[in-house]
Amino acid sequence: THGTEWSSNIDLDDIFISIKTTKKYHNTRLKLIIETWFQLARDQIWFFTDDDDQVYQNLTNNHMVQTKCGQGHYRKSLCCKMNKEFDFFLSTSKKFWCHFDDDNYVNIPTLVKVLNDYHAYHEWYLGKPSISSPIEMYMNAAIMSLERNKNHSKDELKRRENEKIKFWFATGGAGFCISRALAIKMMPLASNGKFVAIGDKIRFPDDVTLGFIVEYLLKVPLTVVNPFHSHLERMDHIEMEDFRDQISFSYAHIKDDWNIVKVDRFDTTKDPYRIYSLHCYLFPQFDICKNRQ
Ligand code: UDP
Ligand code: MN
Repeated sequence: THGTEWSSNIDLDDIFISIKTTKKYHNTRLKLIIETWFQLARDQIWFFTDDDDQVYQNLTNNHMVQTKCGQGHYRKSLCCKMNKEFDFFLSTSKKFWCHFDDDNYVNIPTLVKVLNDYHAYHEWYLGKPSISSPIEMYMNAAIMSLERNKNHSKDELKRRENEKIKFWFATGGAGFCISRALAIKMMPLASNGKFVAIGDKIRFPDDVTLGFIVEYLLKVPLTVVNPFHSHLERMDHIEMEDFRDQISFSYAHIKDDWNIVKVDRFDTTKDPYRIYSLHCYLFPQFDICKNRQ
């Protein structure tokens, strides 16, 4: 028989959801999230930002975390926020940590459903790469110093210097989830600013740094979960009849390219990124879906 302790039943309340954001996106991207999918997980979602904002503290029931990390799209600031998200998760007793960017739309019921296929007492790194082969990095002394067996001889260092290391990482902009068991294993390498220190050593973005820690240093492989989507994929390739099975969506508008979900409903002038339309396709019972026509 299966005791409750070992059943892999994951409820919404077993998940800690962190969203990375920045002051300049509060009134645009955050507003969009708060009016849509935030309402499905108000107690589980926390926003990690870089400024005080009383208006948004009120709108989120004080779920804005002022990280004191730097503003700007810099590797150091982004790694700093990721570190704070991780530390926050450790301070909770939740079973899974799921990270998303502020230009994601997350289909909460499907996220919960998919996580039920995994066990928080096992080490899970769930997400989706956006490149077709693993990332490659040249071995150097900084990388070798992070390995578990760090007593390398000078000869070994010299011999391995031309070696390339390869590992997969989950694209941060698609979202990813990490089980409690894996987070505990990561703790000595990633908690309390150590994630930032590793990012500084390898000089790659936060999502690559995470893949490096999990796949390369800890040897826990990425499990590819296809329903995660970033705007590095074409959003209009997702069919409407498959929306319900997806975990995350995104949007991007770069010059004259609109990478947005293809869904009819609201006028493109009122809903240029199609997020309200997507939300109302999935959850027509929401008030904003009745009023916005
Ligand atoms: N971001 C941030 N500070 C910045 C710019 C972006 O924290 O100065 C966050 C942003 O809120 C988002 C993530 O980093 O969650 C990715 O940013 P964006 O979507 O603008 O760029 P991308 O990396 O997707 O091209
Ligand atoms: Mn983005």
